[in-house]
Parts: sequence; C-alpha cells; structure tokens
Amino acid sequence: MSYQKYADIIIDISHENLDKTYQYAIPEEFSTQATIGSLVIVPFGRGNRKINGYIVNIATEPKLDINKIKPLEQVVEDAPVIESHLIYLAYWMKETFGGTINDSLKTVMPVKKAVKRKEEKSIRLLVDQKQANDLYYEYQRKNNKARVRLLEALMKKAVLDYSDVIDKLKVSRSTIQGLEKLGVIETIIKEIDRNPIKHEIKENRINELNLEQKYIADKIKNDYNSGIRSTYLIHGITGSGKTEVYMDIIEAVIAKKQQVIVLIPEIALTYQTVLRFLGRFGKRISIMNSRMSQGERYDQFLRAKNGEIDIMIGPRSALFTPFQNLGLIIIDEEHENSYKSEITPKYHAVPVAIKRAQLVNASVILGSATPSLESYHKAMAGEYQLFRLTKRAKDAATPKVWIIDLREELKNKNRSIFSYKLKELINDRLAKNEQIMLFLNRRGYAGFVSCRSCGHVMKCPHCDISLTSHNNGKIVCHYCAYEERLPSLCPACKSRYIAAFGTGTQKVEEYVRKEFPQARTLRMDMDTTRNKGDHEKILSAFSKHQADILVGTQMIVKGHDFPKVTLVGIIAADLSLYAGDFRASERTFQLLCQAAGRAGRDAIPGEVVIQTYHPEHYSIVTAARGDYEEFFRQEMLYRGLMKYPPVAHILLVLATSKEESKAAESAYYIGEAIKEFIGDDNEEMQIIGPAPANLSKANDIYRQVIYLKHDNYNHLVEIKNYLEGFYQNSELLKGCNLQFDFNPMSSY
Ligand code: ADP
Ligand code: ZN
Ligand code: ZN
Repeated sequence: MSYQKYADIIIDISHENLDKTYQYAIPEEFSTQATIGSLVIVPFGRGNRKINGYIVNIATEPKLDINKIKPLEQVVEDAPVIESHLIYLAYWMKETFGGTINDSLKTVMPVKKAVKRKEEKSIRLLVDQKQANDLYYEYQRKNNKARVRLLEALMKKAVLDYSDVIDKLKVSRSTIQGLEKLGVIETIIKEIDRNPIKHEIKENRINELNLEQKYIADKIKNDYNSGIRSTYLIHGITGSGKTEVYMDIIEAVIAKKQQVIVLIPEIALTYQTVLRFLGRFGKRISIMNSRMSQGERYDQFLRAKNGEIDIMIGPRSALFTPFQNLGLIIIDEEHENSYKSEITPKYHAVPVAIKRAQLVNASVILGSATPSLESYHKAMAGEYQLFRLTKRAKDAATPKVWIIDLREELKNKNRSIFSYKLKELINDRLAKNEQIMLFLNRRGYAGFVSCRSCGHVMKCPHCDISLTSHNNGKIVCHYCAYEERLPSLCPACKSRYIAAFGTGTQKVEEYVRKEFPQARTLRMDMDTTRNKGDHEKILSAFSKHQADILVGTQMIVKGHDFPKVTLVGIIAADLSLYAGDFRASERTFQLLCQAAGRAGRDAIPGEVVIQTYHPEHYSIVTAARGDYEEFFRQEMLYRGLMKYPPVAHILLVLATSKEESKAAESAYYIGEAIKEFIGDDNEEMQIIGPAPANLSKANDIYRQVIYLKHDNYNHLVEIKNYLEGFYQNSELLKGCNLQFDFNPMSSY
C-alpha cells in the first residue's frame, strides 16, 4: 500500500510530550480534509486503541519503513477549534521565523506541567472533646505516638493546617487517613481563588470621549458591528487617551460575547494601568506577567479557555491565550522591542497577532505615540487603517523643549554634566517645590574600565564585551554576570592609571547630590531594581513626592503619570545614536518623545531640556518638535538608501560553536551553500559576512553571523528552509548550532 502524504501527529498536547510525534499515513479519501491543526482519530499502540491527536506537520515521504506506518482513521470535522488554530499558528510561526515545530509549539501551547490546584488543606476534629480525651488515653496505652501527638494538638486547636501536621507534628499521611476512616478527623479542602488580581476593585468613572477619540472608537466599533475585521494603527501622542479608546472598543466586543487580548510591554504593565482596566471591567479580566510561575500562567490560560474571563492583559506571551471566541487583539506601544522574541522562534508579536486574528476572524489594533517604521510604512501603503490623536486628553499643553549644544557649554567653560539652562531650570523647580526627572538613555553605572596609560580595556574572559564597574569595587559582565575586583594596577602595563570611564546613572546621581545638596534624590536603574517590588517602591515614593529628583534609565520614561513633574532633563541624547545598528535613530527618536511626554502631565505646563553633541541630527530635531511625520520621512530615506527594513528585509544567520574554528568554518560553509542556492539570481541579494558577530563570544560560545538582504521576505524564507535542510543533512555543520532572525531588533 502506498500513500501520497504522511502526517506527524501529536497525541497529548502537553508540554512534556511535545517532542513526541507519531507518523501516520493519510488515506486518499482524507487528503483534502487533513491539514495542519486537524483533529484526527488514530489507532494507537499494540491494541490499536482509538485516540485523538492533532496534525502538526505533513510530508510526502515516510520517516519509517512504510509497512510500519498505520493510516489514520478519521478526520474530525468541526472539531473544537482552539487547539487546531493554535497548532496551525505554531506551524506558521515555524515557517515564517525559523526553528523547529517543537520550538513553536512550546511557545504557543500552554504548559500543562504544573497543574497544581491551589488549595488550602486543613484537618478538623470530628468527635467532641470527651471522646477525643478517651481516644487520647487509648492511643497512649497502645503506644500509638503519632495519633497521640495529633489528638493532643487538635484538643488545643480544633482546626490545624494540613502541612503543619505533616511537617511540624511529623504525623504521616497514612496516620491521617487511618483516623479519617475511623471518623475521628476529617480533611477539609478549600480551593483558593485563582484570580491573580488581588486588588480591591474600585469602579472608575468612565471618561466621556473627546471628539478625536470618539471618531476613532466609533469607526472601529462600526466596522466591528457590521462584521468587518481589519488592522488599525492609532498614532496618538503620549497622554492623548489611547487607553480610553481601547476600553471603549473592548466594551463593544465583550458585549457581543467575544474576548479580547491586550498586549502591554511588561515594563509599562504597572499598577496604574491594571487598576484602570480593573475599574472598568472588574473580575472578568486576568493579567499575566513574567514573575508568574508556569503553573500560574497555565491556570490563567485554563480560565480563559473555560470562559471565566473576557480580557487578558499581558506581555508578548499573552498573545497565545486560548480564548474560544476571540474578537480583538490590541497591541499598545507596538514599537517596543520587547514584542520581539529573543529565543527561537524569534517572532514579532505584531505579524503573529495579525495572523491569529485572520485565522479566527478578529481585528487588531496597534497603538503608539511613535509607531515603528514597519507599522507606519504599512499604514501608508494602506495595509493598516491609520488614525491620529493629536491632542493631550487632559488639556495639558505640550511641553516647551530646549535643545542644548554641549560643545557650546564646553566653550563657555561649563565642565559640569548639567548645562547652564538645565541647572537654572532645576533650581527654579526646586524653589517652586515641583518635581524633576533626569534621564540617561543608557543602562548602567560608570562605564567601561580602561588604562589611561596604555589603553588596555578590561574585558570579560567569557564574553567579548568590556566589564562595567560598580561602586562596590567590583567589575561585572552584564552578559554572563562574571565579576572580579577592580585591579589597582593595569594588567597590561602595570601603571596605576586604570579607572572607570563614561557617565552612568550612578554618576549622575552623585553629581546631582553635589550640585543640588538640598534636593531629595531617587535613582532607578537595573542596579536599584534587582528585587521584586523595587520598581513599584521607587515609583510610588516619587509619586508621593518623597523625592524631588528621579534619576534613571529608560525605565523611568514608560507609562507613568506624575502630575508634579514639570521638568525633564535628558543628559546625553546622543548616547543611543551610536548603538551600532540600523534602528539607532528610531530608538533615539522614540526615547526622546517618551521622555518629553513625561513633562507637564497636568495643569502645570512642562519643559524639556535635551543635551546633545549633535543638535542638528534629525532624530533629535524632530523629537524636540514632536514631529513624527518628518522623522519618518527622513528615516525612510536612509532605510531606502541602505536597503534596510521596512524597505527591504534582512535575514540574520547566526552560527555558534564552543570551538572558535568550528564556528568560523561552519559559517563559511553556510555562506557557500547560500551562494550555490541562489545561483545567478544574486544581483538582488546582498550577502554580508560571514564574520564574527559584534558580540563574538558569549558564555564561552563563539558567534559568527551572515546577513542577507532582499526585497522579498518569502525569498529569504526559502533560503532559511534550504539552510535548515542543509543543517540537518550535512556532516559539515556537526558541532555547530544554527539560528535565524528575520529583521532583527537586537544587535548580535
Ligand atoms: P495614552 O494611553 O494615549 O497615553 P491615556 O488613555 O492614558 O493616554 O490618557 C491620559 C490621561 O488622560 C489619563 O489620565 C486619562 O484618564 C485621561 N483621559 C483620557 N481620555 C479622557 C477623556 N476623554 N476625558 C477626560 N480624561 C481623559
Ligand atoms: Zn596599561
Ligand atoms: Zn561575560
């Protein structure tokens, strides 16, 4: 018997078994019905027990001896579709972003592993005190010590915690069961509320939408109610009331008994934001975050699947919430880097959301004050419907922005990190008892450590990056956490002139204390937010005005409302311009706009000081004016000239190995394989590399990269597929690991 097609079938969709698929043949009669994601019935095991499974892959060649492959028995039509959709989505992600089907399934399917019910167990005495007393003496006579201990404790306190009985009283489960059978005690199990939201819910006053907001909300609701599904981009300046618009539309969707996923970058998923949604929608909401255990997240997925909630709010992974009747996906701050996965499959949440929405006939709303070039480009091309919110909702004036040329300051004998203008305005705000935010768009403390005599730079022995000094006298690798003591002599030339350079948030804080000793200062960066809750603690102290100045990295510019902040100072705006990747200007523009958006959120108008060595750079000039369109125009010229996304597409191939020579060799073979594959068609294909990555070694693994640029994404997908096959079949690449990243957002 021969077949045309074979299906890989997954039997149990649980995390542990994802790697285990079984191949079945697809009989001719099912060849059109059987597609990826289909629910099928197959004969399983020796007894050919009939069980359910899902098709995760289809091939034209069998993996085993053809006589050992059984045909599948039936394709179930109109099956419960949520699993089918998610499996199909996983398959699409594998195709579009690379990696194996297992990588994708693990990303998409909820983890079943830790389904611990959350419950409180306790033990209660069932007999009265007199009977207990009698039993107590009886057990003592019989020398039944465990029973004696338990009864003694229960006579003092009628209800005991189950785990205390086991752990502290050292009473075994079998002893407990014995007494239960005799009717002396009982075990009480109370299920705990699985809702992760513990705040008390206060109902919000619903803001009446202003005209701009109402126009957008009405348009989208009209579409929705008349069955039109689409992708929308809301470009609205900070504070223009995007969240209010989302909530208005969400209401219309849940009124139709459909569900909504709201993605918010984790860093902006603050108490304030969550409370707003809670106040509006109450208990039918759940949230997810990375601090939750896998079991807790699985629990939330289960609640969604069972229809206990209508709205899921969370970061990237919330995209896969198994709602049965999804109507809308919202991605707020859609330009954020955190929407791109850093592990394989290296997917971006926006195209995945759009794909998922297409599969189930839902809509997608993207929102941002500074849309990504990709999204705005698509909106211009008519792929997304574009809406604008141009005014702050609360009538606050947009802030006044000063651009300060740091070269001029130096000429005027100002050697401090604060320009004359910034100093003047800080003093002014301190005198008026208003608040100030000082922002440094680079992570960290004092920068790298180098020798002023010979130029030697202290590097991590495991990674190809410089070590960063901390004020505890240690130097630390931010990549692998390696640390050592700051040497007193240069290891290369033995001079004493080895020291930390560059300005970090810690240094800024020191200067603030020196220059403005009367001010109360808080600092927020990686260093001060190590522990759970640190983040909230600092922000809440600042919002209660327990400090006058908040110094920080980009963490401080996201998603917070501080009505008394009337001055924002950006210490060195150029720092992010030289990040060395093609998105550096875009990121600088976004950060500056966001930082500016923090000034004057309420009745008092705000001011912003941008200090820079490049006052003429377009990303700084346009950010200062809040002119997104002009920034977009200029940046698109650059992207077009260089063939960078969104004008063309990039496929990054990363080859890694424990051996330096192996990594280089493999990258060479891959490069040659690519050239052979594209043949003469390489006019339109740009190949850059192979070459060592910027981060050429990380955790003792050597890294080589090849960049491919082409106008057509699908053509790059073909190359990826070809290389995946080459990797599986060629001995040449043994001992090397291969990864793909389309249109990368992080540097390699
Ligand atoms: P965005 O999400 O665009 O940054 P928000 O939705 O957070 O903006 O709105 C900014 C502030 O304005 C919030 O405090 C919000 O409560 C308020 N706000 C938004 N829309 C209105 C409105 N129509 N009437 C009154 N206040 C509003
Ligand atoms: Zn030296
Ligand atoms: Zn390291």
